[in-house]
Amino acid sequence: MTRQPFFYDITLRDGNQSLKKPWNLTEKELIFNKLVDFGVQGIEVGFPASSELDFQACRRLAEISTEKTVVSALARTVEKDILRGIEAIAPCKKPRLHTFIAMSPFNMKYVLNKEPHEVRKLAVDAVKFAKEKLPKNGEIEFSIEHFGDCAENIDYVIETLQEVVAAGAHVINLPNTVERERVKNFVNLVEKVYNALPKDIIISVHCHNDLGMATASTVESYFAGATQLECSLNGLGERAGNTNIYEVAVALHNCGVDVPLQLNHIYELALTVSEMAHVKIAELAPLIGPQALAHRSGIHQDGAIKTKDMEKGAYRPIHPTLIGRKDDEKIGFTSQSGKTAVFEIIKDAGYPITMQEAVRITPFVKEAAEKVGELPVRNILDIYFEKIYNIKGDFRLVSFEKLAENVFNLKFFHKDKFFEFDGHGNGPVDACLDALKQAGFPQKLVNYKQSAIDGELFGSGAVAMTVIHFEDKAGNVIVSRAKDESTINANVKAIFNGLNLLSA
Ligand SMILES: [Zn+2]
Repeated sequence: MTRQPFFYDITLRDGNQSLKKPWNLTEKELIFNKLVDFGVQGIEVGFPASSELDFQACRRLAEISTEKTVVSALARTVEKDILRGIEAIAPCKKPRLHTFIAMSPFNMKYVLNKEPHEVRKLAVDAVKFAKEKLPKNGEIEFSIEHFGDCAENIDYVIETLQEVVAAGAHVINLPNTVERERVKNFVNLVEKVYNALPKDIIISVHCHNDLGMATASTVESYFAGATQLECSLNGLGERAGNTNIYEVAVALHNCGVDVPLQLNHIYELALTVSEMAHVKIAELAPLIGPQALAHRSGIHQDGAIKTKDMEKGAYRPIHPTLIGRKDDEKIGFTSQSGKTAVFEIIKDAGYPITMQEAVRITPFVKEAAEKVGELPVRNILDIYFEKIYNIKGDFRLVSFEKLAENVFNLKFFHKDKFFEFDGHGNGPVDACLDALKQAGFPQKLVNYKQSAIDGELFGSGAVAMTVIHFEDKAGNVIVSRAKDESTINANVKAIFNGLNLLSA
């Protein structure tokens, strides 16, 4: 099949709205730029009518977009939502307004409390209104929320869609808003709509993963006629998430479809998004999970070794390098290797690291590899310890001592100036930050985590590890860590490592 799929990413809207701590503008911009580099053709940036903050974010992303990417805003079938949406995306080269309403009998009756003919009028009127208000280069996407529940009234849905198309919609999106039953039944409905509408109308699917079959529904819908595939990075989304874009992209690639994405960005994207969203990648997650391409049993290892340099492997769906993962057979690091290799080598050796930290130390590892060729793991770990646990900079800790319950004395240098303050707070982290604030160095703490780790790895007894997340002035979250036999020292060292990173 030669038809190229159109990847429409919903991480910044559907994904972001499901996060415990939604992203700020700096974070949204970072994800937006990564999506553009990845190659998705459409990005839904938000729901501008939902808040002033969301409006501003959509507006900003619309401003930085280029003609390479369709930028879309969500709106209910309400005139003020539509106007606000159009206003937000007005600066972009390829604006799209996405409006939606539910049409399943269940939802119309119990949620919307409307008769089918009323819902049809709202849909058609919204599309007419949007067409009138959108600039000439604008497109309209229309979604039937709960399309997956529309088997019993599919004739009504199709008639309504024909009117919606006549009113000016360019893209018809068919969501499986809640995944309740068979993939085949959903795909049959998609095929019915595809056959009933003019061929210049783009059919889209948007599948949620409630039963773990969203990828299957999306891939099979593509073969049934859907060209636009709505997916998200790491499958972020409400409940069990949206369709995972990596799985769909690789599945279609394996089927011989021309997939216009930079597949080798996948692994790094997955790690970065997981850190930014604070949503862990599951151990067994397809493609990107820690175990996804590992072989444990002897039979599997034997088959893996016999086929290791072949594109098709005995016990793997892809060669790991397709998605930018390290090839397991090569454990050394050369100057040609990158940040994901640094990340995996350190993680495989048993040490904690985040993708942000891997990015930070990669230039040093590369520099060392340029001198010696293939760099042994031991040398990479030396760099890891030096650059992650002992960050040099303007701040130098002298001492931190407990004076009384919740009172700690902090002594430190900033450049050549000595400071001493008693900090008060609920625990050592709080007290240290209080002392720093009194000294004129207030910090914004986003997250703090303390854990005990295996001291043997570090050549000592039990070790406490503290991980600190500070937010810098631009809104970026900076990760720092430290280890010590005392939990209090681990806390304070992690804070000072963070201060030196921020002031670098
Ligand atoms: Zn959704």
